[in-house]
Amino acid sequence: MSDDGTSSRRRFIHLAGVTAATVGLAGCSSNGGDGGDGDTTGGTQGTVEPVPDQYATATALGGNERDPDAVSSQSAVAYQPEPKSGQQCSGCLYYIPDKNGDGVGACAIVEGTIEPNAYCVSYAPYQG
Ligand code: SF4
Repeated sequence: MSDDGTSSRRRFIHLAGVTAATVGLAGCSSNGGDGGDGDTTGGTQGTVEPVPDQYATATALGGNERDPDAVSSQSAVAYQPEPKSGQQCSGCLYYIPDKNGDGVGACAIVEGTIEPNAYCVSYAPYQG
């Protein structure tokens, strides 16, 4: 008779797993040496542009501060340049909106610059 507790516990475990996977993936990408936070062009991604400095530790819509040492690669989260079923980065709590007028932003948990109408499997609706 403790369904509520079990349910929220499962959700926590799920979220913890996602976080652990994110950290694990970020750790893998740094085994090439002193690559640094934004300069990842030599890794497996190749085409991902590093974020401008103003995004490196910026705060996302949902309040999460970006940690440049703990972001996932775009390929790891199946980042795609178009929305999926009406879901897109500009409506995600991890999104960091454009700060320099170039039309693209960043993400608190995914590397590189992020298109506002893109999508990835870590999407979480922002309800602010
Ligand atoms: S959908 Fe993915 S890439 Fe886009 S803001 Fe959310 S977590 Fe970041």
